[in-house]
Amino acid sequence: MEPTTTLSPAEAEAARKAEEATRALAGRFDAEAEAARLESFDASQLLEWAFEQFGQDMYIACSFQKTSSVVMHLATEINPDARFFYIDTDFLFPETYETRDRLAEHFNVEFERWHNISPEEQAAQFGDQLWKRDPDACCGIRKVDPMARALASGVDCWVAGIRREDSATRAGSPKFMWDRKFNIWKLNPIADWTERDVWTHLHKHGIPYNPLHDQGYPSIGCTHCTRPVLPGQSARDGRWSGSGKTECGIN
Ligand code: SF4
Repeated sequence: MEPTTTLSPAEAEAARKAEEATRALAGRFDAEAEAARLESFDASQLLEWAFEQFGQDMYIACSFQKTSSVVMHLATEINPDARFFYIDTDFLFPETYETRDRLAEHFNVEFERWHNISPEEQAAQFGDQLWKRDPDACCGIRKVDPMARALASGVDCWVAGIRREDSATRAGSPKFMWDRKFNIWKLNPIADWTERDVWTHLHKHGIPYNPLHDQGYPSIGCTHCTRPVLPGQSARDGRWSGSGKTECGIN
């Protein structure tokens, strides 16, 4: 028999209010109609529109890959007080942490850090090298859980740097959508940018970017699950190589 959970009256009331708030937020737009209307907007127009709609309740995710550098530049041009955050898995490359610090200085922003139990606590609770045995569980602990907490912290819309070109699973990403995973709105302002668009923008504006991109890493995640790609391989072939896994569960 399934275990039953009984909520206290205070918990039930909090759950009812949370549900009501989610319904009100979801009801602000007709997702399909708005996505269709915004499709012709360029990245800056989308960000400008989203800042008008959501103000400081918009939260911009940074992975400190090249696309984060682009989105940060576009967002701070429009709103110097834009809010940025990142998920620290504690397994990021030293170059990624250095890029974080260079971007913070370049754009004069502070990143809010979201994380979970330490690697040592994870090893004690779930065994050594969980990423090898069960990468979905490891991503769930180190990425999805802190992401869910970040996006439940009073945020109405989050911004991602994903592009349709990244992979088959991202090919149909709209520029604006209701994110069912996190129950808030999601903006993908550079969804239609090409690899060339990204590099042209970075070089034109002299924006700092992760140096691993110049060392054969088109896509950069945790040290344990990222490797450089070989000629002819796609950008995301260096992530969870050989495991069949393609996404961490956030996008
Ligand atoms: S990318 Fe690898 S190390 Fe990082 S959280 Fe996911 S499974 Fe764990």
